[in-house]
Amino acid sequence: MLTVEEAQARVLEEVPLLEREDVPLGEAHGRILREDVRATADVPERDNSAMDGYAVRAEDIANAPAWLPVTGDLPAGTMPSSPLLSGTAIRIMTGALLPEGADTVAHVEITDGGRDIVRIDHSLGRGTNVRRRGEDMRSGDIVLRSGDVIRAGELGVLASVQQRTVSVGRRPTVAILSTGDELIDVEKPRVPGKIVNANSWSLAALVTEAGATAQPSGIVPDTREATVAALERALSCDFIVTSGGVSVGAWDFVKDALDALGAEQKFWRVAMKPGKPVVLSTLRNRLVFGLPGNPVSCMVSFHLFVAPGIRKAMGQSGVLTPPLVTMPLAESLSSKGDRRTYMRVNVRADHGGLHAHPMRAQGSGVSTSMIAANGLAVVAEGVTWIEAGAPVDVILIGPVTSA
Ligand code: AMP
Ligand code: MG
Repeated sequence: MLTVEEAQARVLEEVPLLEREDVPLGEAHGRILREDVRATADVPERDNSAMDGYAVRAEDIANAPAWLPVTGDLPAGTMPSSPLLSGTAIRIMTGALLPEGADTVAHVEITDGGRDIVRIDHSLGRGTNVRRRGEDMRSGDIVLRSGDVIRAGELGVLASVQQRTVSVGRRPTVAILSTGDELIDVEKPRVPGKIVNANSWSLAALVTEAGATAQPSGIVPDTREATVAALERALSCDFIVTSGGVSVGAWDFVKDALDALGAEQKFWRVAMKPGKPVVLSTLRNRLVFGLPGNPVSCMVSFHLFVAPGIRKAMGQSGVLTPPLVTMPLAESLSSKGDRRTYMRVNVRADHGGLHAHPMRAQGSGVSTSMIAANGLAVVAEGVTWIEAGAPVDVILIGPVTSA
């Protein structure tokens, strides 16, 4: 059986890099940049003021307090019309370009705020309160790299360099098939023995969170023919994610159907709990992830295998598997110890650090244990008990919250 790390490496080897496309800046949020971006000008374009106050020469206020005639006003966004003459001050606002001759800004707090004559109470080192030309970006420098995720900070920089269209990785389309004769759609009345198809909803959300486009493709009955037909229809997508039907049950047809279609199995079964029966196959240049049906197994295996694959396909650089952080366990945990186990925890920032609070129920069928689960505590094979307060490795699968 493969280890989780081996299976993750296999996924990343098999995932193709999708082509790139140009999108308007307004649609670039959350996408993966696929070009290096250079600054087109120095930012700031010239030395400018970091404070509201008075543009001066440091030497003119060396013997503070100093009284200087105010010869003009420089609001932000205007060009200085005349140089600063020795022994004078120009009132200046944050962001306004420094007039020639000025080398320092006396912030308004150390002055009397005078309009005709200003009193400056302290001397300042030359360059105080001045933002230097090119301090943020230098013309021609690479400021963003291919493979970067475009979030708020990156969008601001793209706008600053006037990049109106951006080359990004195409979002993969992901077909979601939920197999199981026991499944009914969410809007159907309850029937004894049937359960609502919850996985399609969770998987669609996870696909979207990973940056891809989800195509929920309904419930697939537990027959080889229906599974073959559903997989064939799903081939219009870049990836296919199935839930259920990958175990060794008499009605588990996903692997049979993949075989019937001539798919090449890359792995089946990973040494982990929950999620052991996960399958990876390639089918006519498409990747098929066969995830187990238990809601927890399904989501855990998505985080560990599918999400990194989606990031790779879009061209994200760096480590693509979710981050691992060591933190104290808030309450003790027990595990069977038969396989490496991923226990759901809520990671909260409290007492100045991160703490992992385990969910009470840890069964792979307990869907409510995924509520607020933003971490998976990794409990090694052979370990059956971890005491509260002991350090534990946690894979972060969602944003950390405050206590
Ligand atoms: P399977 O992997 O097909 O053996 O499914 C294991 C268990 O997961 C089933 O007995 C169901 O209780 C549950 N399950 C399977 N598919 C879904 C689904 N789409 N939504 C919610 N639970 C499911
Ligand atoms: Mg099933």
